[in-house]
Amino acid sequence: MPDHITVAGVTVDTRQWIGGQRVASADTFTDLSPIDGSVLGEISRGTPAEAAAAVAAAKAAFPAWAATPRAERARIMHAVADGVEKRIEELAIVETTDNGALLRSHRRGVMPRVAHNFRFFADWLLKLDHEDFETRDHTNHVSWDPAGPSVLITPWNAPLMLATWKVAPALAAGNTVILKPAEWSPLTASLLADIAAQAGLPAGVLNVVQGYGAEIGDTLTSHPDVRRISFTGSVPTARRIAASAAPNLTPLSLELGGKSPLLVFADADLDLAVDLAVEQYDNAGQVCLAATRILVEQPVAEEFTRRFVEKAARLQQGDPREEATDIGPNIHPRQLEKIDGFVQRAVGAGARVVIGGHRKEGQYYAPTLLTDVAQDSEIVQKEVFGPVLTLQTFATEEEAVHLANGTRFGLAATLATGDQERAERVSAQLVAGTVWVNCFFVRDLQAPFGGSRLSGVGREGGTWSFDFYCDLKNTVTAPNGWKNHG
Ligand code: NAD
Repeated sequence: MPDHITVAGVTVDTRQWIGGQRVASADTFTDLSPIDGSVLGEISRGTPAEAAAAVAAAKAAFPAWAATPRAERARIMHAVADGVEKRIEELAIVETTDNGALLRSHRRGVMPRVAHNFRFFADWLLKLDHEDFETRDHTNHVSWDPAGPSVLITPWNAPLMLATWKVAPALAAGNTVILKPAEWSPLTASLLADIAAQAGLPAGVLNVVQGYGAEIGDTLTSHPDVRRISFTGSVPTARRIAASAAPNLTPLSLELGGKSPLLVFADADLDLAVDLAVEQYDNAGQVCLAATRILVEQPVAEEFTRRFVEKAARLQQGDPREEATDIGPNIHPRQLEKIDGFVQRAVGAGARVVIGGHRKEGQYYAPTLLTDVAQDSEIVQKEVFGPVLTLQTFATEEEAVHLANGTRFGLAATLATGDQERAERVSAQLVAGTVWVNCFFVRDLQAPFGGSRLSGVGREGGTWSFDFYCDLKNTVTAPNGWKNHG
């Protein structure tokens, strides 16, 4: 089996990256491109023994990396960012070929953001401090001690972005990392390993284990030497990980699914509201934060729908490498089946198809809007993770909040309103980790990010990331302790 593949002219190593060595697994899994279903290549299919070897490598590398002065860790992380910036074009085309998201977004938004993830947490590390404080003349000194080997498990919808959003703060904190990318989009994690090694990150500080979560996940998450687990993915997997981590009480950060609402009030700028709604088809609806439930105040519902349909009809669906494309394919035939199953069951239960509602040729699903949906129906309650939105109406602000909060999720919420007091009143009542008012997807790395209820556990971002990836220690010193010891 060859140890590398060439994707759109870029060479990608298909082996594991453990302790600074490339390791070929005995078996492989096949990586497909969602653009046309073509086979990109065979990727090393990790075994529990390889997963354990990656933890051992991270454990061995930990003391030296943890003891590396902050300024030196930050320097290496900036060098990683430089390496990412040099390869933005390559990373963008490989990611697009592997997961089907738009090339133009990868090129201009996502990959620069990947570099920024490293720069941001490197810089934040250098200013991470807490002023000493006194208790009855004793001095309290708070320090952020690196926690240890950290397992980072990521999904396929924004592979390198979501991986580095965890890798960067974990490394900055002084932890060593075992990254397990999703098996449907394994390639850019391998390129990251190359970039990090070239930037001077010592062997074993970053390890990348490829393979099926069901086969190697448990070894990683139940391992007693693992000190942190940060996971982004689905709720069922999160439950398995939490159970597996429970015997060791390994601290977990869970960033999970959503069923976020977009509340459109009659006093909103309706064109803006329509723009916000149509934006929810981005990445073919494979965005955890997507506001998939549109809630519109009754007097403007008809006009909103008319303008929405008009705007959605102009969306270009097709090859994500084309500059003009707005919506690309869905990740995998299985995901497509899942999406269509949700839609057909909703229609069977009485939903009306406003637009879409069907598969298209290849791995594409028509942007869909369903209405006449009951609040307790599957399509309103369960995450579809495809280009499928529902529309419900409300009569009062109270009802809007009730519907918005009426699922088991709590990741995000978006409001469109022209009334500032209403925006403040409503956002205060929403159960959501992020609320956007008359905007969407504006995300600063220093803000806390995460979800409530089934959308997750914990927050990452800025200081919150360091709180998670570190063991916080308070050292209390007596005022006159020294003279007792001569
Ligand atoms: P998934 O849960 O199927 O897989 C995520 C990762 O977990 C993959 O790397 C997979 O290999 C691994 N995994 C699977 N079984 C495992 C096990 N038993 N132990 C350890 N790891 C295991 O999720 P997905 O389908 O890849 O991603 C889509 C989901 O991710 C959606 O629910 C979406 O909302 C969510 N998501 C959330 C956020 C957020 O920030 N909240 C961001 C992006 C995606």
